[in-house]
This record gives sequence, C-alpha cells and structure tokens, in this order.
Amino acid sequence: MKLKSRYGRYGGCYAPESLMPILMEIEAGFIKAKEDQSFQSEFQDLLKNYAGRETPVTYMKNLSKAYGFDLYLKREDLLHGGAHKTNNTIGQLLLAKYLGKKRIIAETGAGQHGVATAMTGAMLGMDVEIYMGAVDIARQQPNVERMKLFGAKVHSVSSGSATLKDAINDAMRDWITHAEDTYYCFGTAAGPYPFPEIVRYFQSVIGQEAKAQMLARTGKLPDAIIACVGGGSNAIGLFSAFLEDKSVMIYGAEPAGKGMDTEEHAATMNRGVEGVFHGMQSLFLQNEDGQIKEPYSISAGLDYPGIGPEHAYLQSISRVNYKTITDEEAICAFEILSKKEGIIPAFESSHALALALKLAKETLCGKTVLVNLSGRGDKDLQSYFNYRGEA
Ligand SMILES: *Cc1c(COP(=O)(O)O)cnc(C)c1O
Repeated sequence: MKLKSRYGRYGGCYAPESLMPILMEIEAGFIKAKEDQSFQSEFQDLLKNYAGRETPVTYMKNLSKAYGFDLYLKREDLLHGGAHKTNNTIGQLLLAKYLGKKRIIAETGAGQHGVATAMTGAMLGMDVEIYMGAVDIARQQPNVERMKLFGAKVHSVSSGSATLKDAINDAMRDWITHAEDTYYCFGTAAGPYPFPEIVRYFQSVIGQEAKAQMLARTGKLPDAIIACVGGGSNAIGLFSAFLEDKSVMIYGAEPAGKGMDTEEHAATMNRGVEGVFHGMQSLFLQNEDGQIKEPYSISAGLDYPGIGPEHAYLQSISRVNYKTITDEEAICAFEILSKKEGIIPAFESSHALALALKLAKETLCGKTVLVNLSGRGDKDLQSYFNYRGEA
C-alpha cells in the first residue's frame, strides 16, 4: 500500500491475499482520481446538480431558546436520497467507472446503502447487485422494492444470523471470485484499507461545507460538533474538517438501544473489544471466544457490531468523546424536532440530536453547537408508531 493504512494501531488491511492486487489497484486509482481534473469536475457536478449540494445549515430557533444554547443543523436530510449516503455512492461509483469496472456489488443492512448504490448505479448506467440478510429483507421490504425499481438485483443471505455482518461476508466472497470486473462499494468508513480513507474523503464535503457555513453565519467556529456513529461515515465526514481545531469539542452519539444494563445495544465504542473483523483492526462487540455479537438498535442504520478504525483511534487519543443514547432518548429527540421545528429526523440522526439536547443542560449550556442531521425520518414513521403503540 502507498498511503498509511493505519490510524494509530487501528485499521490495516486484513484482506485475503487474493484481494490484495485489487485493493492496491483501487488505492492507486483513488490517488490518481483525486488529482484528476476531469474526475473532480464530474464528481462536483453530480454532487451539485444531481444530489443537490450544498446542503444548508439551519438555525434551530425554537430549540435554542428552549434549551439555552445555539443549535445549528447540517441538513444532509435534504440531500437526494434522503441521507448523506449519496455522497459516498456517487464518489465510489465514479471511482469504479474510472477503474473501468462495470459491475457493482454492495452490502446493506437496513437497506439504505443498498438503495443509495442502486439509485446511483441507475443514474450512471451500471449493473448493481446488493447482498442483504434474509432477516433484513423481511423487515425492510420498502427498501428492497426501491432497489428493484432502480434495476438492482438483490441477493438474499441466509448464512449466520442473516443480517448485515453476514451480507458483508457474502459480498466479500463474491468479490474474491469476480474481482477483475467488479467493484465493491463499501457503505461506511470501515472495512479493509483503503475503504475507510475513500469513504472519509467522499464524505468530507459535509465538514468542509459546514465549517465555511458556520464561519459565514456566526463569524467563528462552533464550540461543539456532534454526529451519530454507526460505522462512522457521516461522523468522520463532519469531524474531518475540525480535528485540528482544538477549541472545537467533538462528540459521537452511539446507540445504547434498550439500555447499557441490557445486552440489547450497539455501543461499540463504549463496550467493544479490540479485534480483527471485516478486514480491519478495530473495536467490535464480541463474546469471550471472540465471536461477533448481534447488535441491537431501534435505528437499523446504526446496527453494526464494529466501528470505523479512525473512530477507535480518535477515542484512544481522547480527541472525540463517544457517548451512548438509548432508543427512548432518540425517539424523544425525533418527536421534539418534529414538533418544535417541523423537521422529521432519521432515527440515526435523532441520536446525535438527543446527545446535543442532553448536553445542553451541562457542558454545552450557552454554547454554539452544530449537529449533523445525517438523514430524514420519513422511512422511520412506521417504526415510530409501532414503538409508541399507535400502529
Ligand atoms: C446509514 C446511516 C447512518 C449510519 O452510517 P454511518 O456510516 O455511521 O454514517 C446514519 N444516519 C443515516 C441517516 C443513515 O442512513
């Protein structure tokens, strides 16, 4: 590998030997594409004219007043596709095209990354095949229908627990056998190097825009920034622009599910143990034998048993503070933003908002705070009514 593959002791490239040539080809292509004017102009053009960048930063007038701080949201919910995932799929599919690959595969858990990949593949005229656990297919039907409408083929994965981690395993297996003509579009800033770096790069537009917007609006940097962490892509996209700004406090919100006193959570940063899985050294929820545990969160998009390696590193050097938010706290934030500001946040993003509202009473009292609203919550309405027992 040409670039450094590690973040402190985390990261690396624990891939099967047969994949190493293709991972090195991707790394070389990525380094070249970044410097290539025609790649950059096509990427920027699609972000602007297809996906609708830049996304606004919106001041939350009512919540700021009620909670005693200045709250701004970075509005990735307004991006085409309804979440930040579009930044990544446009970037990676253009990279695939740049490398001459015509067939795209991807894994998906809740289906959001599958939908974003299928959507972008339709626009770029590429063949897309999605790996998805059989259990997830049954509980995320609308997303399966969207993927099919976009022309993607959906493979049902029934091995293991038939969820996200098994879908990743099967997608990797497909890739090993079809590496010459196939590009694996990974969904978050995790997996074997260079994926964490590639996804970080394509999502860094969030932080760059937000920083300039906050400076223009308030004349200074925010005192704190907050994002939810599943695998960590929307979070690293925002954080990357602020890591060197020591005055800016940075928080990640991870899912405590039904509570940290239960086994039903997905709090990898707080409860994960170091290990190697999905091609990277990072923190994972695992049992005593090192077997990966099934995570739980009401927000399907945060339901990953691992975390991108850079987050594990940022926690180890205490640059970012990762705190847990329960289902109930996230749902309350979902209701508050809907009722007070007329914006329905994704369950995932509701975790970040919940953390901001919680900290407004103490550390963030009177401060200027920027929260990444990673996606919109229309997809979560049914789950919301089920949760509140109003179905
Ligand atoms: C998928 C998703 C996430 C979690 O993924 P990250 O890689 O951690 O960003 C967060 N928010 C929304 C809206 C999502 O769709």
